[in-house]
Amino acid sequence: MSPEPLCTKIPACSLCGEPAVIHQRHAGHFLCGTHLIADLEHRVSETVASRQQIVPGDCVAVALSGGKDSTALLFLLHRLFKSHSDIRLVAVTVDEGIDGYREATVRSAEDLVRRLGVTHITVSFGELFGDSLDTILKGRKTQACSICGILRKKALVVGAERAGATKLATGHNLDDEAQSVLMNVLRGDLVRLVRNSGADSGGRFIPRIKPLMYVQEKEIATYLMVQGIWEDLPECPYAIHALRREVRSMLSGIEYRHPGTMLRLMENKKILETGFSGKTGEEPVGYCRECGNPCSGETCQICQIRHSLLR
Ligand code: SF4
Ligand code: ZN
Repeated sequence: MSPEPLCTKIPACSLCGEPAVIHQRHAGHFLCGTHLIADLEHRVSETVASRQQIVPGDCVAVALSGGKDSTALLFLLHRLFKSHSDIRLVAVTVDEGIDGYREATVRSAEDLVRRLGVTHITVSFGELFGDSLDTILKGRKTQACSICGILRKKALVVGAERAGATKLATGHNLDDEAQSVLMNVLRGDLVRLVRNSGADSGGRFIPRIKPLMYVQEKEIATYLMVQGIWEDLPECPYAIHALRREVRSMLSGIEYRHPGTMLRLMENKKILETGFSGKTGEEPVGYCRECGNPCSGETCQICQIRHSLLR
């Protein structure tokens, strides 16, 4: 009996029969490169349209770290909106000052904006907070992601304001969103779990949007590879301290064995958001008494970090 040819082991695209590049386990589909691109762009444009994330007249600041999610986000939004003269995209990169990591991703971001012809604004922690993240974190590396997260959020808003943006788009994907749901449960922070941070701007801050929120990380990685824009970049050296890293590995194992788990987590979040709508003291409700920025308590988180650094 002749051996089975190797090529028969590559599954075929469920739509056209060409060799598949991805198995969408939750949907039970195999897709080739062409159909993955079409499927992903269709789903993102549906998310954007159904949630009115981007509307005519918008100037969208796209948070571009240079990593794979933000690269896919800018690339995809550019494809979807390049022919819309009433929608403008501006890329905003935050340079936290992380030695041996940020240089490569900033370079990757610069290459992409040059290729797409998108305006690019860079904001650094040094310029805004007086020091690089590496310096700020001396003696407190285990708190890296919480401190970095708060400062980076502020830096992105400054970049978006400089761009004159009406929306701030971030590359959070389905994995990130599902991980956040679990992390908030593990921390016992149910208020944050049901808080819809982008929905209640009331004109006080630029609404945040997440066009990739229903796209899996592996779909994004494959999308970039198929388009020839995948780049292997270093990982942030502080990521090893993050709770997210542990939750990520646990959740991807569960998703593999029980496809659709991440989507179900998001569905549950939506149900809770609806049930608690208007009862969570949504953010932000007032202004910081020290710096005047919008915040939910008396002092904003940036001023709290400043105080803890001076101790
Ligand atoms: Fe900042 Fe943590 Fe992300 Fe590194 S892994 S860039 S410290 S949030
Ligand atoms: Zn196909």
